Amino acid sequence: MNLFDLSGKVALVTGGNGGIGLGMAEGMASCGASIVIAGRNAEKAAAALGTLHVYGVPGIFIAADVTKKTDCVALIAQAEAQFGRVDILVNNAGTSIRKMPQDFTEDEWHQVLDTNLTSAFLCSQAAYHAMVRAGGGKMINIGSMMSLFGAPYATPYAASKGGIVQMTRALATAWAKDNIQVNAVLPGWIDTDLTKRARQQVQGLHESVARRTPQARWGVPHDMAGVAAFLASSASDFISGTAIPVDGGFSIAM
Ligand code: NDP
Repeated sequence: MNLFDLSGKVALVTGGNGGIGLGMAEGMASCGASIVIAGRNAEKAAAALGTLHVYGVPGIFIAADVTKKTDCVALIAQAEAQFGRVDILVNNAGTSIRKMPQDFTEDEWHQVLDTNLTSAFLCSQAAYHAMVRAGGGKMINIGSMMSLFGAPYATPYAASKGGIVQMTRALATAWAKDNIQVNAVLPGWIDTDLTKRARQQVQGLHESVARRTPQARWGVPHDMAGVAAFLASSASDFISGTAIPVDGGFSIAM
């Protein structure tokens, strides 16, 4: 028995067309899952599907803006129509705007909350019935070190990522009876497009992260592959409502 076997399973990853989402998609594809990547940028998606091709599993892109409820509902419906089932949902799409709290506009606040938190709720809600039809499922929500810590430039981002952890716990209690496990992953500092912008905007960030991380380096998207395979597979069947840091020890270091 292979605890991590995902053959026959269908995994949908929002923002799976790059960065952490693609790293997690690769982890699940390497265990045999069919992959649906969702996002807005079709060009990035084409490159991501090329990366996934080497695993020999079916993979498709569905264009969706996950801040819109209609897109979230259509996304799950299209994935289920194409593959006949949806077993795994990774709520990974995210964004950040870095400013002091007094400088945010109301629109900017909503942009970050809608992209990082409301989208995860809407996609989970849309996926629920498909997972019930599949006999159960796995939801994986992407938090952050900002689920645990604060930073002066990250008020809406930290609010959204703290919310991800609490939403994960609430959904885990609600849907346990349906054999759906809901967990969060809290990545440390991972080298992606998102953090390239952060390094340009926050002076000294690159060095301070490497200095503060016990493993003394930034993470790469591939570092997220294993936790995705674990939380998507039957290896984690009695784990629900938790939030697992994948951070090289960042969150436990003095
Ligand atoms: P990227 O910018 O590489 O990825 C973000 C992804 O989200 C993109 O693929 C983007 O797709 C998608 N996305 C954004 N807005 C929308 C939207 N409205 N609708 C659909 N898709 C959308 O960054 P990361 O890989 O770093 O980030 C992935 C997740 O990990 C985020 O939730 C982020 O907050 C979180 N995270 C990242 C950390 C890091 O150090 N990198 C640390 C902790 C958490 P498209 O381009 O098609 O819009």
